[in-house]
Amino acid sequence: MLILRIADLCEGHSEQRRQVSAEDLDLMEYQEFQAPIEVSLQMEKNGDQIIIAIEAHTTVSFICDRCIEPFTSPLHDRLNILYTSDVKLKNEQDEAICYVSPTTQEIDLADPLRQTLILALPAKRLCKPDCKGLCARCGANLNHEPCNCPTDQVDPRWEQLKDFLQ
Ligand SMILES: [Zn+2]
Ligand SMILES: [Zn+2]
Repeated sequence: MLILRIADLCEGHSEQRRQVSAEDLDLMEYQEFQAPIEVSLQMEKNGDQIIIAIEAHTTVSFICDRCIEPFTSPLHDRLNILYTSDVKLKNEQDEAICYVSPTTQEIDLADPLRQTLILALPAKRLCKPDCKGLCARCGANLNHEPCNCPTDQVDPRWEQLKDFLQ
């Protein structure tokens, strides 16, 4: 839950900072989210319209795709949502517009923020761009030290030499 009480918002511009947990945003099934999530909110209230710019910063925990070592990485993303009770602006297709009834007292920002953070997770997770990964034979982490396994990749020039020697 990341609740904003509409009555607490003044007309015009206002700001708020919040710190929420993965639990608050219902992100518990995503093991990447373990650190607190810093949220900054910029609100612009104009009658029955509230534009909210949400910015979130956190540190996510990953397992490297190549060397399977855990590592952390900063993650930050932002989104803008227009909350309005103007029926003319009601548009179910547009996620950036959220219709609220005129009697609505609270807005829960957890749902849109959760979606945004999940989409911000990278598909490829590397502890560093040039991670050498694990040796396919002995499983050694090649970032720490080279292992003594023979390499399978044979240089084509050596292939020719092999033929020549036979
Ligand atoms: Zn790695
Ligand atoms: Zn090896």
